[in-house]
Amino acid sequence: MNVLIVNAGSSSLKYQLFNTETKTVLAKGGCERIGEKGGNISHKVPEKTPYEKNQELQNHEDAIKLVIETLTDKEVGCIASMDEIGAVGHRVVHGGPYFTGSVLATEDVLAKVELCKELAPLHIGPSLVGIHACMDVMKNVPQVLVFDTAFHSTMPEEAYTFAIPREYSEKYHIRRYGFHGSSHRYVSREMIQILGKPAEETKIVTCHLGNGSSIAAVKGGKVIDTTMGFTPLDGLMMGTRSGAIDPAIVSFLMEKENLSADQINNILNKKSGILGVYGASSDFRDCRMAMEEKKDPRATLAIRMLAYQVKKYIGAYTAAMGGLDAVVFTAGIGENNNIIRAMPCEGLEFLGIEIDHAVNDGIKRPIQTTKISTENSKVQVYLIPTNEELIIAEDTESVVSALK
Ligand code: AMP
Repeated sequence: MNVLIVNAGSSSLKYQLFNTETKTVLAKGGCERIGEKGGNISHKVPEKTPYEKNQELQNHEDAIKLVIETLTDKEVGCIASMDEIGAVGHRVVHGGPYFTGSVLATEDVLAKVELCKELAPLHIGPSLVGIHACMDVMKNVPQVLVFDTAFHSTMPEEAYTFAIPREYSEKYHIRRYGFHGSSHRYVSREMIQILGKPAEETKIVTCHLGNGSSIAAVKGGKVIDTTMGFTPLDGLMMGTRSGAIDPAIVSFLMEKENLSADQINNILNKKSGILGVYGASSDFRDCRMAMEEKKDPRATLAIRMLAYQVKKYIGAYTAAMGGLDAVVFTAGIGENNNIIRAMPCEGLEFLGIEIDHAVNDGIKRPIQTTKISTENSKVQVYLIPTNEELIIAEDTESVVSALK
């Protein structure tokens, strides 16, 4: 089945056409500046020259129409007609307390997604607009919603509950939800296969380290804890996000600097993390270059902080799971940077972790699944390139197949 994977933002719409039989991407691209001046599409089909076109896009409907027009174009497209799209899979950031798996977009379902808006207003609003646009333009194509939070819904109460008055947690559904679920699910599934023992017996820490970063403890194939919380701000420091900090810093800064809720949110989401500590960039590449080539002390501190935090969570989650079979590194930073795989593992020999530095330092492109621990290492450490699209496409196909 060809599944069109859609990820709608407030003024953008990213897409991939994915074939579930061959597990390959047939085309990918995105529309930008939707509802603004200068709308455009960029589109790429493997083996063909990348294609770009400027076209005013008044709304998401215009954008999805242009995507279909481009996908079915004789020159730059890859399918003959919309009939070759079996289903659409929408990536939705937050399923709130309502969704523990992927579902068909029905009126009831969309009403519940509407309720999740409060939990992630910047993301859910645009997602809903994108979903409605696809439903309008592709009337006979089933639309499936795949939630970033769903894979984490197996966490036990003691892991997902925050110690605030119960009245507030209940009234506002405040709890740890976790994010990057499709990525943690994909890499843990791959790792379970590599381990070659029954899934129920496996204990894996998955480290998704990118612009946004999170770690999950996956025991018996199910998440028992994860670092992101009520929102994707919790846990590890990230490109521009602070990660977990003493919550009292929030009210302290608000008072001292006379900041509104919006302003403090902006500081913690957009100006903190690597950018906040290093100061010059939020990109790990720049920070690493400044550390290695200029010996920049702030860049060095930012990288040491991130490595230390990853190490702490590996230790914490090993304790939570009562053991450890494997650690997996994935996403932009985890896949492309040997130091962020090696540094957190330094000194963890007592846990049975031993990195093969020659292998870890010698990884070449294209990045492939690679074992980076030694043969003697009791814990297997792997780099596994993530594939969230595969999970979204597979889920979409299985929801649609169940309808028949
Ligand atoms: P993501 O959010 O998963 O796309 O990851 C973005 C982060 O990955 C940025 O901080 C980049 O510095 C880092 N990254 C992406 N590609 C590379 C690369 N080829 N080499 C080094 N770092 C990379």
